[in-house]
Amino acid sequence: MIEIKNLRKEYDSVTPLEDVSMVVNDGDVISVIGPSGTGKSTLIRCINLLEKPTGGQIIFNGEDITAKGYDARKVRRRIGMVFQSFNLFGHLTVIENLMLAPMDLLKKSKQGAYDTGMEYLRRVGLANKALAYPDELSGGQKQRVAIARTLCMEPEVILLDEPTSALDPAMVSEVQAVIRALSKSGKTMMIVTHEMNFARAISNRVLFMDEGGIYEEGTPDEIFDDPKKEKTRRFIRRLKVFEARIDSREYDFIELGAELDRYLLQNDVAPSEKYRIRLAIEEMVQQILLPHFDEPRIHVTVEYSEQDKHSIVTVSYGGEPFDIRETDNDLSLSVLKNMAGRIRYDPVYGDEEPNRVEIQISR
Ligand code: ADP
Ligand code: MG
Repeated sequence: MIEIKNLRKEYDSVTPLEDVSMVVNDGDVISVIGPSGTGKSTLIRCINLLEKPTGGQIIFNGEDITAKGYDARKVRRRIGMVFQSFNLFGHLTVIENLMLAPMDLLKKSKQGAYDTGMEYLRRVGLANKALAYPDELSGGQKQRVAIARTLCMEPEVILLDEPTSALDPAMVSEVQAVIRALSKSGKTMMIVTHEMNFARAISNRVLFMDEGGIYEEGTPDEIFDDPKKEKTRRFIRRLKVFEARIDSREYDFIELGAELDRYLLQNDVAPSEKYRIRLAIEEMVQQILLPHFDEPRIHVTVEYSEQDKHSIVTVSYGGEPFDIRETDNDLSLSVLKNMAGRIRYDPVYGDEEPNRVEIQISR
């Protein structure tokens, strides 16, 4: 059990943690979410003393690890950490990377460290890569090795700081699968993540961080379906809906595509659906609307809902009433019709963006 009492961390110019108190129970899997810069990393780095708190206490299984003179290495042996970047030694094989710390810090024998290393490699599905060098692995495989390396120390608690955010989208799910399995093993975990469905699937508690500490806490259902406080609500809502405003012909569509990918990834949208959503937006906005309007005022929203069996793409735009189904770009229209389960056009007279097209993309 970890008891955090009035934890404070000040830097010269910011104080990310003003006064944080909480208890981590054995077996808890806690997701930490919130806007960037709100102290999520600082909190978990304080817990294994990678950062030295400037106030308050952390009591780990009855011992005050923030007490003066306490040996930080002792904590790090029992509280493992997985970072965004995997930090494997390039000149060592995978199994050598795994054997290093147990031999050095736990004084394990070479054979003992090897056996444990192989066991955890098997656990993350990479026993066949034991003799490979990190360079020969994909990003997802490297992160799985880094997780195995942490497990080799047999820590009581594992802290993970955005373990999938440095990965190619295609590699995220294999790493999530490993973490999901770990979360079911009864290990106490705290994980900073931006992937909300993932957080929901693995954790029993969710902390939303803002305003110098834990702004709201609850079960995944409470935080994701029914947040009580304003900022949490806004954050969750923003994650549920993707929005973009296109107000110029020079609009950066590459950036839009990247942001949209990020949103769809957070929501675990299947690749084929993702592709159809992107294509639908491209056809509607770039192929049909931009050539039609000299001064575009286009507002795109994408709503993905797990419950409904479809996503909804809504495109509103200013200017004269114009039903995209009357475009002379037959090719784009037919692509769009192929993508969409339903296309609706409802002009909203008097509105700033009176044209409104809604299309459904089915699973
Ligand atoms: P998050 O993980 O939620 O994005 P961080 O915990 O990394 O946020 O950072 C919280 C705040 O503390 C940020 O304003 C960041 O710039 C600042 N910060 C983090 N680490 C340091 C540091 N070593 N020195 C000074 N400021 C820091
Ligand atoms: Mg961070």
